[in-house]
Amino acid sequence: MDLHHSEQLFARAQRVIPGGVNSPVRAFKHVGGTPPFIASARGAYLFDVDGNRYIDYVNSWGPMILGHAYEPVVRAIQEQVQHSTSYGAPTELEVLMAEQILRMVPRIDQVRMVNSGTEACMTAIRLARGFTGKNKILKFEGCYHGHADSFLVQAGSGVATLDIQQVPGVPAAVAADTLVAPYNNLQAVDALLDAHADEIAAIIVEPVAGNMGCVLPLPGFLEGLQQRCRDRGIVFILDEVMTGFRLAPGGAQERFHLDADLITFGKIIGAGLPVGAVAGKEQIMSILAPAGKVYQAGTLSGNPLAMVAGYTLLRELDMNRHIYERLEQKTNQLAEGLNTVFGKKGAVHQVPHIGSMLSVFFTEYPVHDFAAASAASNELFKQFFHAMLHKGVYLPPSPFESWFVSDALSDEDIAHTVQAAEDSIGEILSR
Ligand SMILES: *Cc1c(COP(=O)(O)O)cnc(C)c1O
Repeated sequence: MDLHHSEQLFARAQRVIPGGVNSPVRAFKHVGGTPPFIASARGAYLFDVDGNRYIDYVNSWGPMILGHAYEPVVRAIQEQVQHSTSYGAPTELEVLMAEQILRMVPRIDQVRMVNSGTEACMTAIRLARGFTGKNKILKFEGCYHGHADSFLVQAGSGVATLDIQQVPGVPAAVAADTLVAPYNNLQAVDALLDAHADEIAAIIVEPVAGNMGCVLPLPGFLEGLQQRCRDRGIVFILDEVMTGFRLAPGGAQERFHLDADLITFGKIIGAGLPVGAVAGKEQIMSILAPAGKVYQAGTLSGNPLAMVAGYTLLRELDMNRHIYERLEQKTNQLAEGLNTVFGKKGAVHQVPHIGSMLSVFFTEYPVHDFAAASAASNELFKQFFHAMLHKGVYLPPSPFESWFVSDALSDEDIAHTVQAAEDSIGEILSR
């Protein structure tokens, strides 16, 4: 495979952009090699600057749930752009967007739009702290909630991929207010709740973890967290930046029948434009400025291009709810195919999946937390990643990231992927 133009661009990029990329995981540091520079994308496919085509399982890390350059979204953006790209004043689109979100996600009252998942999570903990008057938050090892100081403690995603133990620049005093428990471990949560009674403002959790690979919640885990929050006056925050509008029209809140105090969104909500949101109960949301004193603002928040893109995608998902079953069928088909070929070739493997999220761990043990995810073979993953890339399948360049299945994937694409996986693992194991 020729990556000649990408190699040239990557060399130029590294001179003028730290590490050559604007978000760490894109640099392929974990797997090595040159990241393809993308020229365009359509449906299920990415095309790089050298003319290579890839079946895309990253999908912009989630937003492209219906595939790239989805016609209704493209048309809506084209229509809006003629009316200027930003006003810094309220618009009807923001009202439509908020109403649409509340229609899809059960048991929330209000929503504030921001520009990224990071901002959404940052705002959620400020709200929780403002609401409770307490400072500490409890998060889970391997969960990623964006790059705000408070969350960069045993975080997943790029932090795990780059194996950064402690992030320089995060003040120790800030980190000290972040308590960390292993995912799926209510006993560890109880120990922390007892040790820090009356100090904890919030528990924040990815309802399905997608930033240490895809790790599912064990039965009772999320419900147990919610109950403990209720009992102790702690704000229960679901980070649905990844799972929102993905696991169901109403995300994990709907799928697992949860009743979170606050929910954060990102990724799908902006259809590929920079959007995040924090939503929740009126009692808490109403303390956000200007209704209340917990300050938060954004020059480009609720940006009309971003709103029209997100609104159009959410409406498509809302009006065509069978898409969710189809996505799940495609994901099951892919998982079954991968399980079969890995088994056939004798590679120890786990393929956890739910909805349209999936990942591959080369380990014989089920993965319920970050320790188990880390114990899987990185070496095998790296080789597998490159073999797949060379066969035209673009996977996340780290075992600590979920794959995303889009509705644009055809049966042939999935069959091609499974065949590529069989050939790849076969080549690697016979080396
Ligand atoms: C991606 C992600 C974030 C951060 O969102 P950005 O838009 O990258 O700032 C936060 N939480 C979760 C669960 C995510 O997957």
